Amino acid sequence: MTHRDVGVAILGAGTAGLHALSEVRRETDDFVVIDGGPLGTMCARIGCMPSKVLVQVADDFHRRHALEEEGIAGGEGLALDVGKAMGHVRALRDRFVSAVMENVIDPLADKLIRDHAEFLEPDLLQAGDQRIRARKVVIATGSTPTIPRPWQRFQDRILTTDTIFEQTELPEKMAVLGLGAVGLELGQALSRMGVDVTGFDALPRIGGLGDPEINRLAVELVSRDFTMHLGAAAEIEEDGRLLRVTANGESAIVDKLLVSVGRTPNLEHLKLDRLGIDLDDRGMPPFDRETMQVADLPIFIAGDVDGDRAVLHEASHEGRVAGYNAVREPPVRFRRRTRLGIAFCDPNICTVGETWDGLGDGNVALGEARFDSGRALIMLREEGLIRVYADKCSGTLLGAAMVAPRGEHLAHLLAWSIQRRMTVWDLLEMPFYHPVIEEILQGALTDLAGKLEVETDFPLGFASV
Ligand SMILES: Cc1cc2nc3c(=O)[nH]c(=O)nc-3n(C[C@H](O)[C@H](O)[C@H](O)COP(=O)(O)OP(=O)(O)OC[C@H]3O[C@@H](n4cnc5c(N)ncnc54)[C@H](O)[C@@H]3O)c2cc1C
Repeated sequence: MTHRDVGVAILGAGTAGLHALSEVRRETDDFVVIDGGPLGTMCARIGCMPSKVLVQVADDFHRRHALEEEGIAGGEGLALDVGKAMGHVRALRDRFVSAVMENVIDPLADKLIRDHAEFLEPDLLQAGDQRIRARKVVIATGSTPTIPRPWQRFQDRILTTDTIFEQTELPEKMAVLGLGAVGLELGQALSRMGVDVTGFDALPRIGGLGDPEINRLAVELVSRDFTMHLGAAAEIEEDGRLLRVTANGESAIVDKLLVSVGRTPNLEHLKLDRLGIDLDDRGMPPFDRETMQVADLPIFIAGDVDGDRAVLHEASHEGRVAGYNAVREPPVRFRRRTRLGIAFCDPNICTVGETWDGLGDGNVALGEARFDSGRALIMLREEGLIRVYADKCSGTLLGAAMVAPRGEHLAHLLAWSIQRRMTVWDLLEMPFYHPVIEEILQGALTDLAGKLEVETDFPLGFASV
């Protein structure tokens, strides 16, 4: 057993942990990073990046159906070599992982401890045969795909995001269980690559949507790629050598399951019960979302492990807050960013700012526009709907939801505007070039302005100097 005393111990060398590190090392080199799992970050190895490479391949291949209309012959004759496509996914993934390893992980040298950590006391950790006394600790241990217990007996036929990118061939028929962002992106991509996909979700809504109109259209559009059964829990049983997945009386017989019902925070092995604080029924400690401090302990938490907003830019933000506060007294409260969610299916499904349920039914006006003209038509992508919400009296933007071609970009514009507390009129004063997809947003904002309970003297979109 070896003993080590450090200023800060960071548990987990993923996105949140490495962003915490970037703040810690600005103040001190008295730290260790502890990680016993595969290195390179979940984002680069099995998350954001390989999934987007797969989506890109699938979308490029799918585009062949539109070529004939543009007078380009031969599109229908194009073929996909699945083995090569999956090899391409892994080749790019390896580049993303190498960049993390070379730039951040390898230079850590003996400041990186290659074991999983657990707490013995709030300031004492055990990692393998090392005991580390740390004045401050950052917990950034990420999450693991959730596989509901009744499905675990089909383990040999279950794929998750931990394993899907390792496949060199794809099954003929697959059920995707869970149609959040990950299930939608992968389900649609696999379908476009030739897999017969059936999707299931216990909720009636997909992609984290709350707005019922956007959801209705999103289901209609994505269902063109694969059948979905929504609003009922799926049950799985053996059917000869195959599996039968059933929900609400509808069945699919499949070779494999892709389970994407969510992720479980990696808390279990940390032994947080030794911290002397109350944990909730998931084993989650109380923490402050603005300081990332756990209770009143010298411990901070960041990233997927805290079970709140499990997306990359939030993991980076929380990591930096946790790292900053781990090397300062007292902890500083940092403003959170406007909520932003994007499913990179086609069309993109995006949610921004206040959720549909959080809007309430009082003082909110709603404007909308369809993607049936201008640039959307030029791209032969003339299907989609955006709905923008604002306070009826002040015109302040509150949120938006959309199923839209290139929605990822519109969602950013809206998130930035909401974070700056801009009004509908502020946005309409901005230039909108022609012909761009942003003109559809201009249409939704114009519709919204007409529904506000405030009259303006000037023509819409004009301000006096
Ligand atoms: C398929 C997929 C696609 C995604 N796409 C997007 C996207 O497009 N956009 C987006 O914003 N987000 C996306 N996400 C989510 C995003 O990747 C995560 O929110 C983010 O990577 C989480 O980072 P993290 O640092 O919390 O976890 P991780 O990067 O997983 O880091 C956690 C680290 O902790 C280590 N660890 C675990 N237990 C211990 C322990 N006891 N002691 C020490 N170390 C430990 C692990 O080995 C790991 O290295 C996607 C996720 C998936 C799965």
